[in-house]
Amino acid sequence: MIYLDYQATTPLAPEAREAMLRWMGGPDSDSFGNPHSPHRMGRMAAAAVEVAREQVAALFPAGGTVHFTGNACEAINLALRGTSRAGALAISAIEHAAVRDTAQALGNVRELPVDGAGICDPDQDLPEGTGLVAVMQVNNEIGTIQPTAQWHEKARKAGALLLSDAVQAYGKIAVAEADLIAISAHKLYGPKGIGALWVRDGVSLDPQVTGGLQEKIRSGTLSPALCAGFGAAAALAQGRMEADAAHMEALWTLARDLFSDWKLNGSADQRWHGNLNIRKDGLDVARLMSDCRNVMFSAGSACASGSGRPSHVLRALGLSDKQAKSSIRLGFGRYTREEDIEQAAAAINAAAQAQGV
Ligand code: PLP
Repeated sequence: MIYLDYQATTPLAPEAREAMLRWMGGPDSDSFGNPHSPHRMGRMAAAAVEVAREQVAALFPAGGTVHFTGNACEAINLALRGTSRAGALAISAIEHAAVRDTAQALGNVRELPVDGAGICDPDQDLPEGTGLVAVMQVNNEIGTIQPTAQWHEKARKAGALLLSDAVQAYGKIAVAEADLIAISAHKLYGPKGIGALWVRDGVSLDPQVTGGLQEKIRSGTLSPALCAGFGAAAALAQGRMEADAAHMEALWTLARDLFSDWKLNGSADQRWHGNLNIRKDGLDVARLMSDCRNVMFSAGSACASGSGRPSHVLRALGLSDKQAKSSIRLGFGRYTREEDIEQAAAAINAAAQAQGV
């Protein structure tokens, strides 16, 4: 099987797996303590959690705190719901459902349009009374990189907070400039089931999960194993950022060449090059996917695919429903080899040709 769905999730890095094993805690071990217990085993577990917190925090600037959560959806809910007293919401038109659905549930939300390349222009006006702006750093469907520094400046001038969903960016490019930043370990070669919210000093949040407040703004016993895996994955990503990006450039160049007669969705330059979202007019994507069962890729975003709804991201670029539905997303990462792309391209191009498109 060829895995080209790195935006949906990534394999666990061997280094992260190794770090987790130490804290899996069988009965004969000393590593199953509750990190919130005051005894020695608890303090050992707590120390592992704090090492991991420092490793995750090392990719953020000084002046903020990393709070672990169960995943990025929870981090985003905490950010949006925990600041809902700030006023109206303004969110980019291409936010992930975690932001979109939560903002809609809270109400009083306006959408900030993107241009045809999938960029949310910070020169546009913010609606009156905006208390929080949400602009993601790297889009999960089309990989476009948003100008978060300019958005942060704009939000600050308007007296609003900026939330940036950096799930697809953290550990790959320099972190966004924002007041609240959500990340997730499983997009970064870490384990599933842990995320974090980085909170700039001075930003106060109302807890959404009460019951002990072990993470100060979030309750629940932390898993030292998941924290250790997240920390190891973050440290590895920090050390390998340039090497990973160079690998991505090589794969991108190859893939663009092999799929040269497909149309690219979203900007080619302001983009994370591990994301190739392409379309062919008239393509039946469901048929293509069933003809290429050995290649793991996605139609639209992992969340939207299967729903039958055209992607709101592709629609926001100005694509028709038909064009959006004839698009596929190929995602590469650290462990993708050139031959994976070559074999996948051969299978996908042959299947598309068989459809006569
Ligand atoms: N935001 C973006 C951009 C994502 O790609 C995802 C995952 O698909 C999420 C948020 C949600 O992350 P998690 O799976 O950790 O809840």
